[in-house]
Amino acid sequence: MKCPYCGNEMTSGVVQSARQIFFTTKAHKNWFTPDIAGSEEIILSSHNWTRPTCSAYHCPDCKKVIVDYETAQQ
Ligand SMILES: [Zn+2]
Repeated sequence: MKCPYCGNEMTSGVVQSARQIFFTTKAHKNWFTPDIAGSEEIILSSHNWTRPTCSAYHCPDCKKVIVDYETAQQ
């Protein structure tokens, strides 16, 4: 994947966490399970019960990581 900022080829990899990874427009103060029904949250990770993992691309020059959640478990 080409970096949308500089156009250089990005490094393919993963973002991992001990817990499910999600995007939300409102940060939560305490841990909770994403409310998919509320549709404010988008699950980014797959393998959420074993090793939450997101497919991602990294540009070291721009210090950007792009997450691809096409295969995430919604
Ligand atoms: Zn870049």
